[in-house]
Amino acid sequence: MLSVDDLRVTIPTRRGEVYAVRDASFTVAQGEKVAILGESGSGKSMTVTSLIGLQPPNAVVSGRVNLDGVEVDISNRTAVRRHLLSDMSIVFQDSQSSLNPTQRIGEQLEEVLEVRGVSGRRAWERCLEMLKFVGVSEQERRMRNYPHELSGGMRQRVMIAIALLAEPKVLIADEPTTALDTTIQAQVIDLIQRIQAETEMSLIMITHDVALAAEVCDRAVVMYGGYVVEDVPMSMLTGGDRHPYTKALLSAMPTLDAERAVALTSIKGEPPSATTRFAGCPFAERCYEVINDCREGLPAIREIRPRVHARCIRRGEEP
Ligand code: SF4
Repeated sequence: MLSVDDLRVTIPTRRGEVYAVRDASFTVAQGEKVAILGESGSGKSMTVTSLIGLQPPNAVVSGRVNLDGVEVDISNRTAVRRHLLSDMSIVFQDSQSSLNPTQRIGEQLEEVLEVRGVSGRRAWERCLEMLKFVGVSEQERRMRNYPHELSGGMRQRVMIAIALLAEPKVLIADEPTTALDTTIQAQVIDLIQRIQAETEMSLIMITHDVALAAEVCDRAVVMYGGYVVEDVPMSMLTGGDRHPYTKALLSAMPTLDAERAVALTSIKGEPPSATTRFAGCPFAERCYEVINDCREGLPAIREIRPRVHARCIRRGEEP
C-alpha cells in the first residue's frame, strides 16, 4: 500500500551538508507491521517524519512515494500534506512535548475532528468513544484535564487517540514507549497491537529495541548511516545470512539468538557522522567481514533470497 523509493533528506548547515537519510526504500502492505530498526542517528526517525512533511524547514527532500496508488512528489510540502499527512498519523515518544500544555485534552482531540468536518456534540461523543477505546477511564473528566494532570502512560494513550481520530491508513509509532516505565510500556504495546489487529491499519514502528520489534512486527527494515542496509521478515531475523550490522543489533537482544550474535561492543569504531561522504560500504569501518572490495563503491541493496534484501556484497555468497 505504501512504497518509498530512494528517499533522501539532506540538511544544509554551516558545517556542511548533513545526510540524514541517504537512500531509504521500503514498502508496507495493508495491515502489515514494519519495524524500522537502527541506532540513534541511523536516519530512521527522519525517514518517517519526512514522509509526513515534519522534517526541518531547510531540509532538502527527494524520492518517490506512493500511497494507495497515489504517487506523491515528496519534495512538494502541499502534496505531502494533502496525500500523505491526511492518511498517516504519528505517535511520538515524548507525549509531554507533543501535546499542547495550554489546551485541554478535549480541545486537542476535537481539533482533529474539526479538520474532518465533525464538530459539536458528535465530535464530543466520538472523542469519548475514542478515549474509551484506547483505555482511558473517566473519559468526561479527562476531556477537561490539561496534559500535566495526566500520567505519562495516560498522555501516551491520548496521543494514540489523537492519531486514531484521523482514521489513518498508516500509523507511525516513533519509539512510542521509550519514555515510559516498564509496566506502562507493556500496556501501550498491548494497546498498539490490539488497535492494529482490530483496525487492520498498517503500522510502522521506529525503534532501536530489537526485542520490541520482534514482538510486534512482521518485518524489519534496518538502517545504518542513513541507508536501508537490510529488509527482512521478522521470522528470518535471527537466522541465516544476515547483514553484519543486523547481527550486531541482535547482540543487544540476548534472548533472541545470543549464540550467533556478534557483540556490538566488539566492533571497533563509532557510528558514522551524518556529514561523512562514503566511498564504499558505510559499515566498512566497523565490519568484521570487510574485504578490499567493500571499499570500492557503495553496495547496492539487492534481493539475496526471496523476501530478503541486503546492502552487502558478501551476502548471498556460497558457504
Ligand atoms: S559490504 Fe563488506 S563491509 Fe559492508 S557490510 Fe558487507 S562485508 Fe561488511
